[in-house]
Amino acid sequence: MSSIGLADFKAMWATHRQAFLDAADRVGKSGWLVLGSEVESFERELAAYWRLPFAVGVASGLDALEIAFRCEGMKPGDRVLTTPLSAFATTLAIVRVGAIPVFVDVDESGLMDLGAAERAVSSGPVPKFVVPVHLFGHAMNLASLSDFAGRHQLTVIEDCAQAIGAKSNGQPVGTASRVCATSFYPTKNLGALGDGGALLTSDETIAKHARSLRDYGQSEKYLHVEMGLNSRLDELQAALLRSVQLPMLGAQTERRLAIADRYLRELNADIVRCLPVPGSSQSVWHLFPVTTPSRDALKAHLKKADIHAAVHYPTLIPDQPAMKQVVHEVSGKLTNANRLATNELSLPIHPWLSDDDVSRVIAAVNSFEGQS
Ligand SMILES: *Cc1c(COP(=O)(O)O)cnc(C)c1O
Repeated sequence: MSSIGLADFKAMWATHRQAFLDAADRVGKSGWLVLGSEVESFERELAAYWRLPFAVGVASGLDALEIAFRCEGMKPGDRVLTTPLSAFATTLAIVRVGAIPVFVDVDESGLMDLGAAERAVSSGPVPKFVVPVHLFGHAMNLASLSDFAGRHQLTVIEDCAQAIGAKSNGQPVGTASRVCATSFYPTKNLGALGDGGALLTSDETIAKHARSLRDYGQSEKYLHVEMGLNSRLDELQAALLRSVQLPMLGAQTERRLAIADRYLRELNADIVRCLPVPGSSQSVWHLFPVTTPSRDALKAHLKKADIHAAVHYPTLIPDQPAMKQVVHEVSGKLTNANRLATNELSLPIHPWLSDDDVSRVIAAVNSFEGQS
């Protein structure tokens, strides 16, 4: 019996080895290794996939967020509504700009609760930005998000690192913002064989600004108009992404949906619940979160069957030790977020799982009877 994990990079390599090697060979032969035709082509193809005019490749999802924030004029001291339940990078990018994260609770799906955000706006100092996360591959309700942001003159920047291809009532995630950010960290739905990220935008000025910021803030070679980053996407990663990973993304997303569908229909343990999906979301199931009061026992139970589940996330961002060093605010009680930090477990849902693997996960979860 083989081990079932949250990703399977060996299966990915075994299946696509030759295509990866061909792409690498193309880059090697070209003699051009950073910011060249592979990055340009990948940006065009990714933008087409997303049905937006511009994509800008960068070194990571974290950098994509920071650059997006700077393109939208986020400044030191600005208040930014965001979620306590995310990868740490969402907050880290806000802090790197010098802005102040203001954490509001999530709803029962784990996405930013706009009711809590509304209370934060009416009770605290006025924020300028809202940075929601389309967590687990679920799309937040974009119409509600735009309405909320519009009423309070907040600039929206969506973190789409877990939700490439997800839609809210047919509208792609990322389009409630002028610029959004995504990640190509290997475990993400569109993963590189290393680090990478991108900004997506319909605004040519923002795209141009982002291209300058990722490359030391140059407006032309050796002319530095502002303090930028070194956040360039390698030709090699761009080539692997565009030749192998991006063309497969549609089929792999379908596979994730089919697995999620089986989990939703067949999981039936009394004390394990699937997290509710927002009714407006066409999800891409980056993760498959369940909740149970005996989370650690369920994780151990699965491990005995050689199934490796993971917690997203065990510690809320404002409770991280590093947050003691920076100015931040918590608005209201983080009741739902705290409950998820205690109860949530993510089941394997990657596209390399066979039908038998999925059956094994279902059988293992269904045989769980609680604290042992
Ligand atoms: C992965 C992730 C990021 C950061 O991406 P990196 O490429 O690892 O820097 C940001 N936000 C969310 C929600 C993520 O899942």
